[in-house]
Amino acid sequence: MKALFSSVKSSSLKTKMVESLFESGPVMNWGTLNKCILMLILAAGVHLTWVIWKGTIILNPELWQWVDLALIKKQIQLNIVFLILFTLMIIPCRLWAEKKWVQQWFPYISVGIFVASICRDGYLIGVLSPATMISYVSLVTVGLVLLPRVLVYCAFIPATIFLAGCGYLSYMGVMTYAPIFHLSGYSYTNGFWILSMLFFIIPILCTCLFLFESLLSQWRHREQLIQHLSQVDPLTNTRNRRSINECLEQLDVLNEKESAVYAVVLVDLDHFKLINDRFGHHKGDEALILVSDELSKHVRESDVVGRFGGEEFILILHHSSEQQAQRVAERCRQAIEQIVLFSDEEETIHITASFGIAASAPGIKPMKLLNLADKALYEAKAQGRNQVCSYFHSAFLDTV
Ligand code: GH3
Ligand code: MG
Ligand code: MG
Repeated sequence: MKALFSSVKSSSLKTKMVESLFESGPVMNWGTLNKCILMLILAAGVHLTWVIWKGTIILNPELWQWVDLALIKKQIQLNIVFLILFTLMIIPCRLWAEKKWVQQWFPYISVGIFVASICRDGYLIGVLSPATMISYVSLVTVGLVLLPRVLVYCAFIPATIFLAGCGYLSYMGVMTYAPIFHLSGYSYTNGFWILSMLFFIIPILCTCLFLFESLLSQWRHREQLIQHLSQVDPLTNTRNRRSINECLEQLDVLNEKESAVYAVVLVDLDHFKLINDRFGHHKGDEALILVSDELSKHVRESDVVGRFGGEEFILILHHSSEQQAQRVAERCRQAIEQIVLFSDEEETIHITASFGIAASAPGIKPMKLLNLADKALYEAKAQGRNQVCSYFHSAFLDTV
């Protein structure tokens, strides 16, 4: 349980880096508009890599033999236009973020233009090239995790039809395949082509991996948090009833394999209703927290402390005989008695508790043991409270 607490506290560094981009909270929790701004930045980045690639080719005449230079010169202008367009599109996204039409249509417009520009690039370098394929898979995956599904499908279904259509028409000889390259022979043996592919793939793949990793770490974090919340009592931070039941079920399984030695101790605060009525519910809550702290302090790490109900706690003491459980319960009883708590009027609030113990015995299931501990607790109450009572199997056997 302690490990669970610490792992919940430690959030991923990567998630924090993405968080700090513009909106507080992990990227998954951003609004669609902010996710679109992130996408526009990435889209501008894609066109920047194109400008760099094409600029490098234009400046190096020895590379011209492998490309359609006229097309490259024309296309670099288009890439610059897209780069400026995507950067400018961030402005309305930010300025009119509150406007309904921006929230409704902007995601479609920005995702649509981005995917269209990527498709055009995919056609230019070859729809079946590694860069196109890897970009397609990475962007669809991250898109589906990050953005509303309908938005992603609206963009990627036409994109898929376009890419498949280009592939088919190239195969039929109607269109030129990968018109930007002029490669004679097999492209996989051409160093320029291989380096170009890597140049396109690496930034997209790294960005998508980074985003995906941050999304996954947020998922894991959420998973742990949900597990933690489902097992812990929010007031006292001890195990809740669900978690205690799980422990008892585990003991049941263990008991069937090898007869485990353990003891169940039920703890009920004495006249707790009076504390609430006299000093207020908030003081009652404080008392519950202090009692749970004392109980946790007086048992071993391997034992279980849980809040069983309102002012009732349970201890499951592993590898403990009835006598050992009695000693632990007595220590807890004394520690609770010595709790120092003052009312709002500085009056001392006396807290005491009664304890009922039942130790494991062959053939007795944990749930039955709980009933027996409850009987012992009833006995402790009947005998005047603030004491420890055990259920002796031999003495009560005929009443079970
Ligand atoms: P006994 O000695 O017989 O156990 O008497 P008691 O007053 O402790 O028992 P009773 O069952 O009559 O009252 C339990 C009280 O515990 C009633 C309820 O308001 C209070 N209680 C239950 N859960 C909480 C809680 O989370 N916070 C606070 N402050 N009080 C709670
Ligand atoms: Mg009580
Ligand atoms: Mg009670």
